[in-house]
Amino acid sequence: MNFSTDIKFLKGVGSVRAEAFYKLSVGTVGALLRYYPRTYEDWSNACSIREAPLNETCCIKAIVCDTPSKIRIPGGKLIAKSTVTDGAALMNLTFFNNKYIGNMLKEGEEYYFFGKVTANRYGTREMISPVFQKTADSIGIKPVYPQSADLNSKFIGKCMKSVLESIDEIPDFLPQDIIDENSLCSLDFAIRNIHFPESYAALEKARNRLIFDELFILQLGLLSIKNINTKAVTSCVMEKDFSKEFISSLPFEMTNAQKKAVEEAICDVQKNEPMNRLLQGDVGSGKTAVAATLMYNAVKNGFQCAMMAPTEVLAEQHERTFKNFFKDTDINICLITGSTSAGEKRRIKQALSDGEYDIAIGTHALIQDDVEFQKLGLVITDEQHRFGVAQRASFASKGDNPHIFVMSATPIPRTLAMIMYGDLNVSILDELPPGRQEIDTFSVTTDYHERIYKYIKKHLDKGLQGYIVCPLVEEGENDLIPAQEYFEMLSQSVFSKYRLGLLHGRMKPKEKEEIMRRFASGEIQLLVSTVVIEVGVDVPNAAIMVIENAERFGLSQLHQLRGRIGRGSEKSTCILVSDAQNEEAVSRFKILCSTNDGFKIANADLEMRGPGDFFGTRQHGLPSLKVADIITDTEILMRSQNAAASVIKNDRDLSNPENRKLRKQVDSMFKNNYGT
Ligand code: ADP
Ligand code: MG
Repeated sequence: MNFSTDIKFLKGVGSVRAEAFYKLSVGTVGALLRYYPRTYEDWSNACSIREAPLNETCCIKAIVCDTPSKIRIPGGKLIAKSTVTDGAALMNLTFFNNKYIGNMLKEGEEYYFFGKVTANRYGTREMISPVFQKTADSIGIKPVYPQSADLNSKFIGKCMKSVLESIDEIPDFLPQDIIDENSLCSLDFAIRNIHFPESYAALEKARNRLIFDELFILQLGLLSIKNINTKAVTSCVMEKDFSKEFISSLPFEMTNAQKKAVEEAICDVQKNEPMNRLLQGDVGSGKTAVAATLMYNAVKNGFQCAMMAPTEVLAEQHERTFKNFFKDTDINICLITGSTSAGEKRRIKQALSDGEYDIAIGTHALIQDDVEFQKLGLVITDEQHRFGVAQRASFASKGDNPHIFVMSATPIPRTLAMIMYGDLNVSILDELPPGRQEIDTFSVTTDYHERIYKYIKKHLDKGLQGYIVCPLVEEGENDLIPAQEYFEMLSQSVFSKYRLGLLHGRMKPKEKEEIMRRFASGEIQLLVSTVVIEVGVDVPNAAIMVIENAERFGLSQLHQLRGRIGRGSEKSTCILVSDAQNEEAVSRFKILCSTNDGFKIANADLEMRGPGDFFGTRQHGLPSLKVADIITDTEILMRSQNAAASVIKNDRDLSNPENRKLRKQVDSMFKNNYGT
């Protein structure tokens, strides 16, 4: 047997169980060893019946006083009761539906019982359906594996034991100097102890080693992707500071947070090291104006800039915004998106490489291979968390290490930011422009529709605008109304006297743009839309938003959506409409109704969904992690990051023979996850 042996050849694993293992992604003996326990039961520390803490699980060593007697109760259930003693006190045991219990527990013999201890009304301690084991058998800290319908934890543990007993030593792939520097245990020790810990201290050591490995390999993989933070020199030095003249031309006074962010970035771009800065600011905090200032500064210093947005609608909006910001200057702006015609694209590309355009705004289309710049000095990505690491890298490769500025409304935990962006600096907009009011948010059921429509009308009659957001409807989902039908229904009935517009993802970009333009100009009063408006859209006169089937949206998504209103000086209202009763949806609504604070919301989202899900593993190309917790394992993360950096420094793409084993680990971690 070796690590690549198919799991079906393991003793006791027939074809049925092999199938079940495959479903858990355990195909080989090696994969089995990497199938870690979910938690552990502590059988090493038995306590006396009297001292057992109530309502907690613990392990009790006791002798069976009487063989369990079975009785059948009405309904056909089988109950067995027994009493055990540790010499000082008695404890009652109850088992349900276990025909064999009489043969399993023998009077006069001693066992360990593991389970939750409760007390009956006379104060006698009880355990319901405890797990138990003969005291003669060796015990300690027992692994509990994630089980499936066909595989229980006990069986998985048995397989694990037999594999570990039959292999000699698990070879280590980490270079010895890294092991020594970080005081790590051997891989062999780690694997054996993650499954069958000798002690809690040993378990801790094992976990530390495995967490280190995981984060180390992850970062090796990310660092070896070309162009991320490896070259530290740029020719894009922007010596003079033109920010003040631009800021004074703005129609508003920048907030102190905006000014500070600008200063920090200007300081970065004056150096001959490329800037790598993240601007984090809640929806509506005014990130765009900061971006515009930096672009202006770059152009005045003789460089081109590019800005990438995640959707066409947003890219188009940015183009409009920037054209407006720069209307009194000689700055030329172009737009490249997926729907730019081939001929137009050819012309723009030529003009960009000739340096005729100063600023290019676009979607992913901007990072295509054949888009070239004459002198790209600054790249900005908006709503960064939607782009993958590789996309960011290829964007930056369009210049000679241009300065990078990324903007995000989603607060990213420091640790995750380190992983995704490497060593980056953060500016935070922790202040909203003056005059903004909190958005009032309510959650109601669908029988409130009549009242909601009245409420919307009241807003429209005052000259304000609003959104009705519908979820995307997949084919076959008959319980939801598609935006199109809903729009038609509303324009023919309740809102027949108002000017309605419809915006959805399947419309042609030109149509979308036209609708957005008409909405922005006030011609459309009420916009019925799918989530295409989710990010960045800015129409300050919109003061009401109704979100239909709100249970369909994630917490951060709802917050982003809601951020489309509350942008002007009018009090804004957001109404979440849903008949959903499930706990998760209800708690999401509760959070939204209770706070406008994006930071709090992001943290709640992170807690509810976990980081992988939160950032969309697939989009980011980040492999999922088994043991490491990106949020809490900061210390190990830093150490592993240093170790990875030192390996990469000497061998950028891990091609040296001595790093062959590391390369293999990286490849296997990234094999299905990376490449977007
Ligand atoms: P976000 O950070 O969500 O991208 P935007 O950049 O779209 O926010 O800004 C939201 C709105 O606030 C825009 O209409 C913008 O013109 C306006 N704005 C930005 N900064 C200020 C400011 N300092 N004072 C007043 N309004 C501002
Ligand atoms: Mg924005």
